[in-house]
Amino acid sequence: MTSMHFINGSKSEGNSGRLQDICNPATGAVVGSVPLASVSEVNSAVSAAAAALPGWAKTPPAKRAQVMFNFRDLIIKNLDKIAENISRQHGKTLDDAKGEVARGLEVVEFACGIPHLLKGEYSLQVAGAVDSYSLRQPVGVVAGITPFNFPAMVPMWMFPMALACGNTFILKPSERDPAAPLYLAELLSEAGLPDGCMNVVNGDKEAVDALLDHPDVAAISFVGSTAIGKYIYSRGCANGKRVQALCGAKNHMIIMPDADMNQVVDAAMGAAYGSAGERCMAVSAVLAVGDETADRFVDALAPKVRALKIGQYDEPGVEMGPVITRESKDRILDYINQGEADGASVVVDGRGLSLQGYEDGFFVGGTLLDHVTSDMSVYRDEIFGPVLSVLRPKTYEEAVDLVMTHEYGNGTAIFTRDGDTAREFASNVNVGMVGVNVPIPVPVAYHSFGGWKGSMFGDHSMHGMEGVRFYTKLKTVTARWPSGVKDGAVFNFHSGSDTK
Ligand code: NAD
Repeated sequence: MTSMHFINGSKSEGNSGRLQDICNPATGAVVGSVPLASVSEVNSAVSAAAAALPGWAKTPPAKRAQVMFNFRDLIIKNLDKIAENISRQHGKTLDDAKGEVARGLEVVEFACGIPHLLKGEYSLQVAGAVDSYSLRQPVGVVAGITPFNFPAMVPMWMFPMALACGNTFILKPSERDPAAPLYLAELLSEAGLPDGCMNVVNGDKEAVDALLDHPDVAAISFVGSTAIGKYIYSRGCANGKRVQALCGAKNHMIIMPDADMNQVVDAAMGAAYGSAGERCMAVSAVLAVGDETADRFVDALAPKVRALKIGQYDEPGVEMGPVITRESKDRILDYINQGEADGASVVVDGRGLSLQGYEDGFFVGGTLLDHVTSDMSVYRDEIFGPVLSVLRPKTYEEAVDLVMTHEYGNGTAIFTRDGDTAREFASNVNVGMVGVNVPIPVPVAYHSFGGWKGSMFGDHSMHGMEGVRFYTKLKTVTARWPSGVKDGAVFNFHSGSDTK
């Protein structure tokens, strides 16, 4: 099945002559293709978004919210179909795909409150007969460039907020699993969004560069790997655009000796191996404080990792699917080989997993590495696969130092019963999202999602009030009415309280 672009309210097959295969990651078979847009196709999408902008920006926020309410209903009605679109191309289980849509839906629900969120500030009588008010106006045409691992949720971090704020949008989804975002754009049309407000352009670097360089694109939201995010941030900023780039991660989970080990083990299972570790908030490094804690953790976790039920997304009871591509699988296996060569103990080995009927699928078994040290590439790099590394710091201070000095700062968690330690950790750690006895601390939609250090470039996180700030420009009006005008020009600044 060939995927499509969605420009100005219509689907099109594209005319660049460039197509990329889409695989079923469970079988390795090519099941479709996606057109890769040319510069002129990107330009058509930008023209459509620019033409739709004045009308949409002037549409009362309550009417824009009505479209979001309709969209919300359509998502709920079509949840199974959206999830199927995700799982078929991504490989994650259907329940996980539904969970992803539910988290995206929260942002739509937050965007339904846009009339309230856009309320400005008003100061009466800032000087004699002078009033001042601040308001937020749309940025313009904005583009979103999104990764493969959350083909519905990550675009939904962006476009509901952008559209509700009065912008028009061009989505450049991942070329590996474009079905779900295309379907969401169609649902938006059905919800009453005018043509041209939401466009989907599939493509690769050529399409992304065309968006980064187009003078009519005012802002870029990016989510993906750090190398590409750095490039997008610098090129977009150099072109005078507002850019937010949320990037790669290595999320640490600290286990203190007093933690409830049953709770810890369940938390680590889901956080490390859910979605085959292909989550930017996946826990990929456990810092078990003290050998005794580490031994208890590894002994309890290993049998559960061995028992993981791995398979295609729609098999009953399946807990973990394949990774996204053959290259990704090979890369993960290389990391495990390197970790072993560097001296890590391979407690559970996911290499060589072969599933009957899926021998050519991109499966990697759950892998548990112990005695990992901070100089190893399995610890330093983001692997983005079902591989959990256990390090054994002797003290809390040593554990925190590892978190603080790591290149990435997306998420982190501490498991402890000690409130003082938890509070100290949450207050001082240099990471954007912190969990206390919560392994994947993804903020709800009315808070904001974003990392620190090498995990994010730009000033605004996504959704919540940060989303409103990113997708609007602040304007402040100072107004004096005739009764307050005194004769004579004023050449000096004077304070607001000077009623002269
Ligand atoms: P990726 O960086 O390969 O791709 C992301 C987007 O960039 C895609 O749309 C892709 O087409 C585009 N792209 C790829 N190469 C490009 C190039 N050379 N020039 C211009 N654009 C290019 O990321 P991915 O493999 O799809 O996703 C996994 C990564 O995303 C991981 O690093 C993960 O941590 C990260 N991620 C981060 C967050 C977060 O919120 N911090 C969330 C989800 C995923």
